[in-house]
Amino acid sequence: MTFKKSELFSFSTIKNYHAFLAQHADGCTIAVNHYLSKIKQFGRLNAFLEVFEPDALQQAKFLDQERKQGKPLGKLHGVVIGIKDVICYKDHKVSAASKILEGFTAVYNATVVDKLLAAGAIIIGRNNCDEFAMGSSSENSAFGAVRNALNENLVPGGSSGGSAVAVQAGLCMASLGSDTGGSVRQPADFCGIVGLKPTYGKISRYGLIAYASSFDQIGIFGTNIPDVSTILEVISGSDDFDSTISNLPMVEYPIKADNKKFKIAYFKDAFLHGSLDPEIKSSCFTLIGKLKADGHLVEGIDFEYLEFVVPTYYVLTTAEASSNLSRYDGVKYGYRSESEDIELTDFYKATRAVGFGKEVKRRILLGTFVLSTGYYDAYFTKAQKIRKLLVKKTELIFNDFDIILLPTSPNTAFKIGEKMDDPISMYLADIYTVYANLTGVPAISVPLFTHTNGMPFGIQAMTNRFNELSLFQFSQLLMQQYQSFQDPTS
Ligand code: GLN
Repeated sequence: MTFKKSELFSFSTIKNYHAFLAQHADGCTIAVNHYLSKIKQFGRLNAFLEVFEPDALQQAKFLDQERKQGKPLGKLHGVVIGIKDVICYKDHKVSAASKILEGFTAVYNATVVDKLLAAGAIIIGRNNCDEFAMGSSSENSAFGAVRNALNENLVPGGSSGGSAVAVQAGLCMASLGSDTGGSVRQPADFCGIVGLKPTYGKISRYGLIAYASSFDQIGIFGTNIPDVSTILEVISGSDDFDSTISNLPMVEYPIKADNKKFKIAYFKDAFLHGSLDPEIKSSCFTLIGKLKADGHLVEGIDFEYLEFVVPTYYVLTTAEASSNLSRYDGVKYGYRSESEDIELTDFYKATRAVGFGKEVKRRILLGTFVLSTGYYDAYFTKAQKIRKLLVKKTELIFNDFDIILLPTSPNTAFKIGEKMDDPISMYLADIYTVYANLTGVPAISVPLFTHTNGMPFGIQAMTNRFNELSLFQFSQLLMQQYQSFQDPTS
């Protein structure tokens, strides 16, 4: 690590922080000042696009006052949180890390922001990411790449890389990202922290800048499972502004599982896949052996669709993106071309050609192509059929098992610039994460291992839809009993 935790303030869990606040009348202000100085100190990581310093300090003062007055405290009282730059916070800038939203200020709060603030959280800033959440490395930002705090020459993963690094480097306590195909789990994996993508429909997407609406889900980064589950309790639940949200009542997650034995499936093909780093593979198999020895049922099952998940994901998400991003035309908001005396269509073209980055343009083109007459059935309809098959297959698996176990990523963090000219290899590395978004199930990356190259990696667990409780129980078990597990090859 190239940084040190401050001696004056250190954060381990929300629970411990709340105990600290009970002893310190100015505790929230102490915490916010601590994070503000850390953010400055590690500015070179480029994890924040903007720090909401005056607001955060004001909110901290207000919360310290509330405690003095003996008011009932919210579940996230004083918790310092970063939000990915795709989540709207009223009267604050939001850009999706794109030039096309230059100068745009949010006119309403995302539902998650309302819920965070109502629970007493302090939003400290907006986190850098891949433009419109498209990417796996956080290099596709119009505002420069994000760096991995463990090795600044490496990527932090993406697209929510800024949110991941903010937690990894201790620049805030927890953060929100968005996960359309792995953008919370994969950066969590590369940074050695916890990353949760809840069930599709668990957290309102109102106020989340859309990439691919039938896949997008807000996710949570944290350093431990209890914090992530507490944040989920606060930000999930029904919302009149999102028609895809579930009306299931909000639940509290008792994450202690009291010696529960889990029925765990893993996809044999996934662990034998040629792209998987041999050391990640052997660590996963050692973990599987250990889980079996400890009385869990762990079974390798056939999964004949593995080769289809990445193409299906890229056909469907780019189609949705081409439609969602059509609103950025330079007329209503954001960047507009300066070209004068041109036809409206040429004005749109001039704006979009300059406003969007290379990867976003590539995806809009691809999405427009798969939706075009003549190709619609061959690509879009076919991909939808495969998605249906995957959903059915997943239901069958969860009839017999509690958990599906997969690697999170086939490799650990790679060098900045290494894959920028090879989008296909970047896409193929999404092989283990897109499945959960195609099927809507919740998935988590739990940091368990250290590679001999010095970088961390985790394992990914999934449960049936809306069974976050089991997912947390299993993840907690992994963190408590199998973390810092010594890989025999290391
Ligand atoms: N890496 C994936 C992509 O580039 C995932 C992105 C995401 O989850 N937002 O599409």
